[in-house]
Amino acid sequence: MKADAPVALVTGASRGIGREIALAFAKDGFRLAINYSRSEDKAKELEKAVARLGSKPLLLKADVSKSKEVQTLVAEVMKNWGRIDVLVNNAGITRDRTILKMTDEEWEDVVRVNLNGAFWCLRDCSKAMIERKEGAIINISSIVAVRGSVGNANYAASKAGLIALTKSAAKELGRFNIRVNAVLPGFHLTDMGRAVWGKYEERIRSEHTLGRLTDIRELAQFVLFTAKQKSASGQVFNFESRVI
Ligand code: NAP
Repeated sequence: MKADAPVALVTGASRGIGREIALAFAKDGFRLAINYSRSEDKAKELEKAVARLGSKPLLLKADVSKSKEVQTLVAEVMKNWGRIDVLVNNAGITRDRTILKMTDEEWEDVVRVNLNGAFWCLRDCSKAMIERKEGAIINISSIVAVRGSVGNANYAASKAGLIALTKSAAKELGRFNIRVNAVLPGFHLTDMGRAVWGKYEERIRSEHTLGRLTDIRELAQFVLFTAKQKSASGQVFNFESRVI
């Protein structure tokens, strides 16, 4: 691992899609900052997996929905490595309920993590990126942001907010050479995906143009490519084979 290797911070990297994205960056030679919130054991497993690749990641516990914790998270990366080249806003939760039954807490919890959390991270990381006039931010949104969905309006609205944030941030930060893009993953059988798989399997398969699920490693490679390319910003990349 080169001492001046670029630095990637991946939020919610302890499990699922975030873990896979984190591994892709580590394999590509990035110094990796692994954020997690509750799954310490899984985050430590990832730390070991990255160490086996020959680099020592930073393991950083922070609830991204809390602005103060995000400030500390970003400050820790800067204290250790003095730069942040890539932020992947991946941390996300669901609290599914139809609109008429949804509680204030279910709405607010999801918006706090998925949208506020991404904003705190984007704001603080872009301050670090501006100094070097270089950076890439990838917001992990969802196809439901553009299609709507029954039973998780809180989630769909938070992910739609992420798309508007992506486009606005790209316009504001482009002059500092910071690229901001959103990626819509396909359906993946992570803990989040498995929770609704039984209910939606048939529909997901039937709507998929290739009749199968998207490969999580290919998604991670796509996020890595999106971060490394220097031309596109403010875009929403649909890595999903359901047609919008
Ligand atoms: P997952 O398996 O449930 O993992 C969620 C990750 O987010 C975990 O690492 C979790 O960390 C972290 N997280 C949750 N709340 C957090 C908080 N307050 N602060 C920091 N980290 C937090 O979900 P996933 O399927 O991998 O989803 C990852 C992202 O992809 C999400 O944004 C999701 O909306 C999006 N997505 C998923 C799918 C899919 O099919 N799975 C499809 C489209 C979009 P801890 O366990 O440590 O708390």
